[in-house]
Amino acid sequence: MKKFLRCNAIIACLLALLLVFAGCDANPAETEESSALTTTVETSASTTAQTAETSAATTDTESVLTTDTERNEESSADTEKSSAAVYNPENLSTSPIDLSSLPAHTDKPYVEVNGNLPFFTEAEITDVAYESYSALDQLGRCGAAIACCGKETMPAPGEDRGSISSITPTGWVQAKYICVSGQSLYNRCHLIAWQLSAENANVKNLISGTRYLNADGMIPFENMVADYIKETGNHVMYRVTPIFEGSNLLASGVQIEAYSVEDGGEGICFNVYCYNVQPFIIIDYATGSSSFDEDAFEASKPDPDEVGNYVLNKNTKKIHYPYCNSVTQMSEKNREEYTGTLNDLKAQGYSTCGNCFAGQ
Ligand SMILES: [Zn+2]
Repeated sequence: MKKFLRCNAIIACLLALLLVFAGCDANPAETEESSALTTTVETSASTTAQTAETSAATTDTESVLTTDTERNEESSADTEKSSAAVYNPENLSTSPIDLSSLPAHTDKPYVEVNGNLPFFTEAEITDVAYESYSALDQLGRCGAAIACCGKETMPAPGEDRGSISSITPTGWVQAKYICVSGQSLYNRCHLIAWQLSAENANVKNLISGTRYLNADGMIPFENMVADYIKETGNHVMYRVTPIFEGSNLLASGVQIEAYSVEDGGEGICFNVYCYNVQPFIIIDYATGSSSFDEDAFEASKPDPDEVGNYVLNKNTKKIHYPYCNSVTQMSEKNREEYTGTLNDLKAQGYSTCGNCFAGQ
């Protein structure tokens, strides 16, 4: 995870060049045409082309902008000019990434897209805080959400999270499994995280996401951005695009792009796709229903007498696989790399982590 924080000046320069020379290619209207993936928003019969009121420029910090823009074929076709001046997430009705070009999920919760460089155009990048959410499509699914996140959009100190349980996102067929941390397969996943947006029960900002997508895929990136804003007071362009294949009600995954504004991407700069999967669970993305892959689960159980590589937390007495998200957050003094058997560790009072071992 650290490597993202070290997005260096070279990458920033490359991005700047990319924006200058290839800015037109990345503009939403063209992306729409060139993308192979047909998803999310279908044109609705009543297109009251409500332009995203000069999204960034006029927003003040008190009234964070939340626009619902209806897609309008004519206006998106005719306006090189206004698409450059005004960011309209509805124009991103097809994803800038093509799922067939990405590797299938293996053991990592995300994969880098476009060399880890986000697709923001120069015109989109602003240091004025705002948030904008796509209208739901005809199937009730969320579209892209974009924000310029800053302290202005984040929860006030001491502000509590509100309830989001009133929202039922598409694909919400809840199920419980022992191999899922907390047992429930699905979380209501914020597109723009609560800690960045202070958005609670916003139906345009919540999708059905697996525990794995939420905890292992999205949260580490959200934490990175939130920490950066808290430390620097800078702004971060942040866009989350749920990717639905065909008429599936459950997203296959989400694309997250982020770019720190004031330092030209030096602090934060990434473009990733996080898989909406759950190890050992077979998911039907058309509906969101699921089943337990018992054979795969049994086959994955480590032999307790076989020597393996683990990372120990000497404080909590937990055993982690080296790739566990908790390992990156562990303080050096509690951390110990270990090669040996699980039975030996258990004899020393250690137990397996509920996340990376997940019921094993
Ligand atoms: Zn772990």
